[in-house]
Amino acid sequence: MASSRPDPPEAATPSARLDEILDDKLRIQELPDSDHEYEDLSPQEEAHMAYLESVRIPIVDSFKTTSSEVQDETLEAVLPFLEGNPNDFPLNEHGIPHLQKEKHIKFLKKALGDYPAPFAMMDASRPWLVYWGLQGLSALGYDISEYRERVIHTFSLAQYPAGGYGGNYGHFPHLAATYAAVLSIIMVSTPDSPATYDSINRKNLWHFLGQLKQPDGGFNMTTGGEEDIRGAYCALTVLSLLNLPLELPDDAPARKCGLTSFTDRLGEWIGRCQSFDGGISAAPGNEAHGAYAFCGLGALAILGPPKETLHKYFDMSRLIHWLSARQCAPEGGYNGRTNKLVDGCYSHWVGGCWALVEEHQSEGLWNRDALARYVLSAAQFSKGGLVDKPGKRPDAYHTCYNLAGLSAAQHRYIHDAEKAGKLGLDAPFHWTPNGTFAASTIWTPADEVARIHPVFVIPFSAASESRKYFADKGSL
Ligand SMILES: [Zn+2]
Repeated sequence: MASSRPDPPEAATPSARLDEILDDKLRIQELPDSDHEYEDLSPQEEAHMAYLESVRIPIVDSFKTTSSEVQDETLEAVLPFLEGNPNDFPLNEHGIPHLQKEKHIKFLKKALGDYPAPFAMMDASRPWLVYWGLQGLSALGYDISEYRERVIHTFSLAQYPAGGYGGNYGHFPHLAATYAAVLSIIMVSTPDSPATYDSINRKNLWHFLGQLKQPDGGFNMTTGGEEDIRGAYCALTVLSLLNLPLELPDDAPARKCGLTSFTDRLGEWIGRCQSFDGGISAAPGNEAHGAYAFCGLGALAILGPPKETLHKYFDMSRLIHWLSARQCAPEGGYNGRTNKLVDGCYSHWVGGCWALVEEHQSEGLWNRDALARYVLSAAQFSKGGLVDKPGKRPDAYHTCYNLAGLSAAQHRYIHDAEKAGKLGLDAPFHWTPNGTFAASTIWTPADEVARIHPVFVIPFSAASESRKYFADKGSL
């Protein structure tokens, strides 16, 4: 499409008009860029420039739109960070900023503290703030056990008496809040601290999930709320990690339509969320989006071994094509939708899809180095925390998901499909780490983040210990 549009008339551009007006001898020649801006480049900066030139997309659409203008502005903001080191971070042996672990730990610890009054608008996001903070700290290798008591206290107050968790104290239960609360609780739980696990009222939670199951197979986010693919992923995550029964409670409305299990018609419903362009959308017929792609793939990877479920419910060639198209060049990071801007949080939402997809296809479908370059060079904020893109402020959300994306680039996982599927929703417990990508030209061991469970986005041990604890415990 880009090349089919006619170029604007040459005479309309200022430089072309100058050519007409001025005799060559009268013109003051502009210095070429190479003599002027880049004379003091270090060999590493020269290498960065050469790399960026090599991945720059050669076809430029000269048709200006609001989207193309903000894309140009984004490149202007991002490129200085990929070419040089405006934050003056210490550089690794590849000339890339080291991961500023101490600064990010300090930032996330602050994010788990008190908030000033203007943050009242975040009131309903308390479970998320806790989850992003704890998961980010874990990814940086920080021991989060000091938060155990506070986490139990917070979520005992946010747990709704009839089941599930609200966004804050006294709020009605919501599936997204429940997902973040459960992940936070099991992250600080250990087998020798059963009170933390047992703070979750599983029986009431099971009833709450039963209210959300829809006759078409999907899940509402809250009673009477919207049905979307977050619901499928969040519900399956909670059912699987807490080893809840898969049969629907007797009071589940979907039973009136003949459904008996949480998994009835679910794979088909998720499959219907694949859009015409191959991506995954929130609900059938909507626009594809990177975060929904992760939810869709994650949900299917819980429903069964991804080698089977992904191929069964998605057209994987079209999905891989769509996911690949989300990696921006020359930025290296991901955008979340077609024609959108690079954003650090998609380092996980799209970057995290590959571990699940590579179980279905062979490796090498994405550029790990390019993503790591974006995270380390462009997404680290000078004072700590990670950002959407240069010029933005850091927050716990972008810090957590930039780090998860960096982890996805650095680590390899394999799934043992042979062992999976014997018990309800046990497929995600058969992933194992399979080494790191040591051949990177971007990061060094000092820049590595911890392994993260590719389906649940928490430490491996937190996932397996939770499942084991509740499996041993047995009935509700
Ligand atoms: Zn973002």
